Amino acid sequence: MQKNIIIVATIWIFLIFLSFFSMLAIEKNLQKELAFQTARSFFDLIVMTREWNARHGGVYVPVTQKTRPNPYLDDQKRDIGVNNTLTLTKVNPAFMTRQLSEISKNEKVRISITSLDPLRPGNKPTKREKRALQEFEKGINEKGLIIGHDSEESFFYMAPLKTRKSCLKCHTAPKYKTKSNIGGISITLPYTRKIPWVPLLLSHIGIGIAGLFGIFVAGRKLSNAYEKIRMQASYDPLTGIANRRSFFDTLSREFQRSQRDGSVLSIIICDIDNFKAYNDFYGHDQGDISLQKVAHAIRDTLKRPSDICARYGGEEFIISLPNTDLNGAIHVAEKIRQAIREMKITHEKSPPDKIVTLSLGVATSEGTSTPEEIVKHSDSALYRAKENGRDQVREFDQDIFREQETSKKFI
Ligand code: GH3
Ligand code: MG
Ligand code: MG
Repeated sequence: MQKNIIIVATIWIFLIFLSFFSMLAIEKNLQKELAFQTARSFFDLIVMTREWNARHGGVYVPVTQKTRPNPYLDDQKRDIGVNNTLTLTKVNPAFMTRQLSEISKNEKVRISITSLDPLRPGNKPTKREKRALQEFEKGINEKGLIIGHDSEESFFYMAPLKTRKSCLKCHTAPKYKTKSNIGGISITLPYTRKIPWVPLLLSHIGIGIAGLFGIFVAGRKLSNAYEKIRMQASYDPLTGIANRRSFFDTLSREFQRSQRDGSVLSIIICDIDNFKAYNDFYGHDQGDISLQKVAHAIRDTLKRPSDICARYGGEEFIISLPNTDLNGAIHVAEKIRQAIREMKITHEKSPPDKIVTLSLGVATSEGTSTPEEIVKHSDSALYRAKENGRDQVREFDQDIFREQETSKKFI
């Protein structure tokens, strides 16, 4: 039982660890998924502003130091002079994204427009972007990964840009077709792992301890119940000594051992004399008390740990004495008989001494082939003790046994 409790507790601890590490993994995935969602939103926003720009056929902005006319835009109306001091130049979606990318360089969220074959050399992809662009060519729709280490971690996201009609104004090469990939936009977000270590750890420790407590309490209760059932199955409830079933289990083991070792095993069967009369005279309850006294006296007389006594029937007891020959067994039987006499339990209806006495039959394993046979022999010896006047020890006699068996046949 103890072993089973330890097995269940070990499984429980394993499950708690499993749950803890699964929760950690789930939490990490959730954070990554959140970073994905955020990056996708940025990407969609940029695509939307590009769409807005494209719908206007590009938008005009003043030419400044930072916004020079786009040399890659082949458009006759690219630059419009408004007056002496103001010239407007057309900003197409690509140029606009490029400018956003320049602005974002000093921001937390950085964006970059790039292509495997950029018109503008400054739009050359980084190694990471190039790998992503190559994967997009194979049909992958987006790429997201955590880059950097520890506090310097960022989330890199990239998705392809599809060629639109408006793109073809600058991207004139025949390989550019609408809906094919024209390049990609990468977005780099700050990424901080915020794993709720403390609540996760504390809740798991709490659940773990509560579970272990439950397992040990339930285990102890089960163990006690099991022990009780085991006791009920093996012991006689009135006298507390072994019952007939458990006695025969032990006897068959001891018998086999004696057969192997070539040792002698002896059996004593005892029966309280005139016990019916005792019950009739003193009442059943008093009879029970005397039965208990006799049982305990028999048990206390046995000295070797291997000797066992059991309640064989109503007021009958049986004793197994491994490694004990006939003389030894007769000696033990005599000691038991004396012990019962010395208790001096008054028995008005048991002549001549008016005390509770025992008759005992002894037999050994010599010449027997089963434990049941020795029991039968002891029973025969007990019968002789009763016949000879009770309150005595008799050993098994083969001739008398034969006579008893024959007379039984005639009855
Ligand atoms: P004998 O000397 O020949 O053995 O006579 P006896 O009266 O002891 O034998 P018998 O077999 O006729 O009676 C046995 C009696 O033991 C019957 C019953 O009243 C009593 N007995 C059996 N089991 C119990 C028990 O659990 N409690 C009590 N109080 N008495 C029991
Ligand atoms: Mg009897
Ligand atoms: Mg009796």
